[in-house]
Amino acid sequence: MTVPSVERRTAVITGVSGQDGSYLAELLLDKGYIVHGLSRNAASCSSPNLASLMAVGAGRLFLHSCDVMDHTSVCSLLRRVRPQEVYNLAAQSHVAMSYKQPELTAAVSGLGVVNLLEAIQEAGLGDTTRFFEASSCEIFGRASRAPVDENSAKHPQTPYGKAKLLGYLAVKHYREACGMYACSGILFNHESPRRGKSFVTRKITMAVVNIKLGKEERLSLGNLDAQRDWGHAREYVYCMWLMLQQQIPADYVIGSGVNTSVRQFVEMAFERVGMSIWWEGSSNGVGNHGIINRGSHMGKTVVTVCIDFFRPIEGEMVADTSKACTELGWQRTTSLRQLVNEMVDHDMALASTAV
Ligand code: GDP
Repeated sequence: MTVPSVERRTAVITGVSGQDGSYLAELLLDKGYIVHGLSRNAASCSSPNLASLMAVGAGRLFLHSCDVMDHTSVCSLLRRVRPQEVYNLAAQSHVAMSYKQPELTAAVSGLGVVNLLEAIQEAGLGDTTRFFEASSCEIFGRASRAPVDENSAKHPQTPYGKAKLLGYLAVKHYREACGMYACSGILFNHESPRRGKSFVTRKITMAVVNIKLGKEERLSLGNLDAQRDWGHAREYVYCMWLMLQQQIPADYVIGSGVNTSVRQFVEMAFERVGMSIWWEGSSNGVGNHGIINRGSHMGKTVVTVCIDFFRPIEGEMVADTSKACTELGWQRTTSLRQLVNEMVDHDMALASTAV
């Protein structure tokens, strides 16, 4: 069957109200797609991430209350809308939370993928619908210091990583054994002003703005020396779309290729609001704290370390994105400094307009 031109395509996005879902919906609407966005609760579709989209997508964006675990609902929706592309961005996506909710994480982030793939088959769309799974670098398990690529060993160490590995393997199975066009984007951390507040980047940018405005005293963090390969979410969702436009489906690692510590992220965020800090106390643990070293807040402790935010297992990984660059022509363009600045500026604008 011929694939319709982009401006006549229909896509389903699960997890549409999240950071990635909203950027992807924007991208697809901009290309002329009809977008069906799934969210567990339609009420959450009034999330700020989707507010601007509703106007842009009038008549072409449809929101549905539908859980990826609900086989009957997913199947009947797929039968009805017959999408050319399905993007699975629904997940329990907090690593820290996955220790507290391992079953829920396995169900949504692992079995949810199987459910969607099976529903596509059952709806009679297995030969025509292309499927994207938002996989995660957590499937590698931070085993190696060398940059990881698609062929690196996968030994997940967190409940989230294990659930994601199940989803990744399911995609591989439906591609190789059932002939589906299905692929996984193995995503490294990706951030933006739309990032959830419990992730460390957004926690930092919001707190820095509040400290600058005198609304908050201190930012309490866990491991300051944990490193992450951070990129901009908008660029990563573009890569998701590229992955579904190829002749042959394949998995791709999507990352920035650069590791940065939480400590450096904190420093950059404070610099953006004109405050610089130095560190005192034990260099890598509780007792370490950040102090303002100039201006009106001089000498004030603004960052402390709290054991509650440490992870049982921590490691570093950096992405080798050669395959995505060569085969998809994808390049990340936003530097981490630009990303930090965008997030801080956004939170400053939000805080300044808040009553
Ligand atoms: P993750 O990589 O998906 O777990 O993304 P997060 O943004 O939640 O965490 C990124 C890194 O920041 C991890 O290595 C955490 O251990 C570290 N980190 C340090 N302090 C905090 C904190 O207060 N909250 C969170 N979420 N992470 C923290």
